[in-house]
Amino acid sequence: MVVFLAVRADILFLPRICNILPNKPTTKKRVVEKGDAWWMGRAIREAEKAAGRGEVPIGAVLVRDGKIISRGHNLREGNQDPAAHAELIAIRKAAKKLGNWRLAGTTLYVTLEPCIMCMGAILLARVEKVVFGCYDPKGGAAGSLYDLSDDKRLNHRVTLVAGVRQAECAALLSGFFAALRAEKKRAKQNSSNSGEVSEWSMVPDSKSGVRQRT
Ligand SMILES: [Zn+2]
Repeated sequence: MVVFLAVRADILFLPRICNILPNKPTTKKRVVEKGDAWWMGRAIREAEKAAGRGEVPIGAVLVRDGKIISRGHNLREGNQDPAAHAELIAIRKAAKKLGNWRLAGTTLYVTLEPCIMCMGAILLARVEKVVFGCYDPKGGAAGSLYDLSDDKRLNHRVTLVAGVRQAECAALLSGFFAALRAEKKRAKQNSSNSGEVSEWSMVPDSKSGVRQRT
């Protein structure tokens, strides 16, 4: 009798217990908060695309409300355009896409510190925040040579975040230039070797008079 009552109690309370337990599948999607490092990864991908085309590996993405509006990578050599910097390409694409040159509320992620031209475009486009990977001591205008992000004489300020995935961004550039130097060295060696060949070939064959290598 006691056992019977206990079983009945389980049956009676089981639905209530089920309601309390979190065993229902939730229909809400998990919102993944993407941080600066994650977005910089997308800019790094763009830089890798540039490297694949034989361009200096610099990449950029422009983000607003958790979405990429536009992407850009350096195309200076391919386009023979001194202004074809990753940032400028991304900014122009975004303005065209949105039909608005004011890119308020956007964040630009770029693998290398922007130059004077790109910082100018960033200010003109009213970009809110710039996140960059490594510093450019020879041309940076976001802290290295100049800091155009917070000049009170200008009518726009931009928030800066520096050094995000810095080592990866720098390694891309140093790897690219090391490969370029090695290629130039090989080309120089080949050209000096071919010079020796032409000298040897100038020695005339006494029998035939045909110039050949000794
Ligand atoms: Zn630039």
